[in-house]
Amino acid sequence: MNLKKRILVCIILLLFLAVMCMIGVFSQRSIQAMGNAIQEADSKKIALTFDDGPHPYYTQQLLKGLKERNVKVTFFITGQNVEAYPEIVKEIYEDGHLIGNHTYSHIQLTSQNEESFKQEIRKTNEVIREVTGQDTIYVRPPYGSWNKEFEKELNMFPVLWTIDPLDWCSSDAARIVRSVCSKAKENDIILMHDQYKTTVTAALKIVDELTQKGYEFVTVDELLFD
Ligand SMILES: [Zn+2]
Repeated sequence: MNLKKRILVCIILLLFLAVMCMIGVFSQRSIQAMGNAIQEADSKKIALTFDDGPHPYYTQQLLKGLKERNVKVTFFITGQNVEAYPEIVKEIYEDGHLIGNHTYSHIQLTSQNEESFKQEIRKTNEVIREVTGQDTIYVRPPYGSWNKEFEKELNMFPVLWTIDPLDWCSSDAARIVRSVCSKAKENDIILMHDQYKTTVTAALKIVDELTQKGYEFVTVDELLFD
């Protein structure tokens, strides 16, 4: 074989190798994309929600654990706690969690206090906007007491819950985890309170256990409007 021919053969071989490499990379990518799509279709969505905060100590512990797990949740906070701990509210917002309104002073709606209840919702929306720069349209009425007529008037959407492990009256994290994980199903909204060390421990264990079972934790807007 003369020199010209050898060079030609080398070039053809190199081209062949380059084409094979490209095919390999592309097929690997498409297999990966297919895998991701299957995983997304397979995952069951579920939402963790935390009321009454932020707490000066436990909320940040919870945020740290959630960040480590790359999980987003929803916080229904009171206006008075937003004013007391604006830095923590900012951290919740910057971490990508959803923020909702839980009235200013945790007032329960009755037939006698409709006006002050609405006032509290408006005031809390204002203080949340002052800290995060964002409006919220989600409200968790304390004790679940709500008037459907307020929805249009306040332009707010109520978010109740489907699983209540009564975390506020237990110091047994394992019991709370069992109570949630034994009932959990797709599209559930879990009610917890980031006011206790037990709740933080239990919530992170719930995340680990349900993630293993194929659940994907989302903020409540994804469950209500998807
Ligand atoms: Zn509450």
